[in-house]
Amino acid sequence: MALALQTFSTLKDANAALQSAGTRYLGGGTLVVRAANEGDVSVTGLVRSTEPSLSTIDVSDGKARIGASVTMAAVARHAELGFLAGAARAVGGPAVRNMATVGGNLFAPTPYGDFAVALLALDATVTTEDGETPIDAFLAHRDVSRAIVTSVGFSVPQDGFRFLKVSRVKPKGVSVLSIAALVERAADGTIASARIALGCMADRPMRAKAAEMALVGANLTKEGIAPALAVATESTSPATDPIASAWYRNEVLPVHLGRLLLS
Ligand SMILES: Cc1cc2nc3c(=O)[nH]c(=O)nc-3n(C[C@H](O)[C@H](O)[C@H](O)COP(=O)(O)OP(=O)(O)OC[C@H]3O[C@@H](n4cnc5c(N)ncnc54)[C@H](O)[C@@H]3O)c2cc1C
Repeated sequence: MALALQTFSTLKDANAALQSAGTRYLGGGTLVVRAANEGDVSVTGLVRSTEPSLSTIDVSDGKARIGASVTMAAVARHAELGFLAGAARAVGGPAVRNMATVGGNLFAPTPYGDFAVALLALDATVTTEDGETPIDAFLAHRDVSRAIVTSVGFSVPQDGFRFLKVSRVKPKGVSVLSIAALVERAADGTIASARIALGCMADRPMRAKAAEMALVGANLTKEGIAPALAVATESTSPATDPIASAWYRNEVLPVHLGRLLLS
């Protein structure tokens, strides 16, 4: 079946066109075009917008805003987003990264969504024509979202941000799991706050809330983080797929989380 692609210069017109049944927004197309090519007949039309702000990155006054059409390759090479380069480079190989967008990654189903995991740890907000939504809420309701994501925004961490992707095929294999953590320390060195996001441990990126709570007040040592690792798999529901079983993902999560926290 032929796919109609409509291009609009304004977001308003693109959002209006997106309301037609079967119409999907076209980011880099690495998932939605593949789905259509593979016979997903629920996709009958594609909409894109050339609004310039979709493709810009702005970092100023400790805040970052990344347009939804910005690619992983552009994030990886941005001088002021060095702390996110690892997460951007975790997405596919070079050809995929040149097309894969930040907006599309928010919708990528498990085992994809590695960059969204990083954004979840950063407590990002997701902007659509309806305003800004905390990323936790956005991810929870993404299946019913019919609005174009225009950008993501977050505070740039001074330090304490860590990201890890575990895969079997290096360097561009699909995730066994991915972890992003933002750990802030108090003056005495103990952990003041922690946000830990997990990829492949549910059908979409999730927070490891029990582990986050167990880390507060703890020392960032093997002994100090042990209680957090003991509850790391609380509320997880990983998939079993050709990459790994749910059992395996739960078994190795505490090991990798421990290594990441102590890195
Ligand atoms: C070979 C291969 C390897 C891959 N490896 C990885 C990997 O290692 N890690 C990983 O995370 N992903 C991986 N992916 C998946 C994918 O490339 C990325 O998740 C990518 O970021 C998706 O973005 P996209 O722009 O291509 O999305 P698209 O295919 O354009 O869109 C995906 C979905 O998101 C919606 N969408 C896109 N942008 C917007 C927007 N601005 N507003 C509203 N809706 C939007 C689309 O309508 C569609 O439903 C891989 C894909 C391939 C083909």
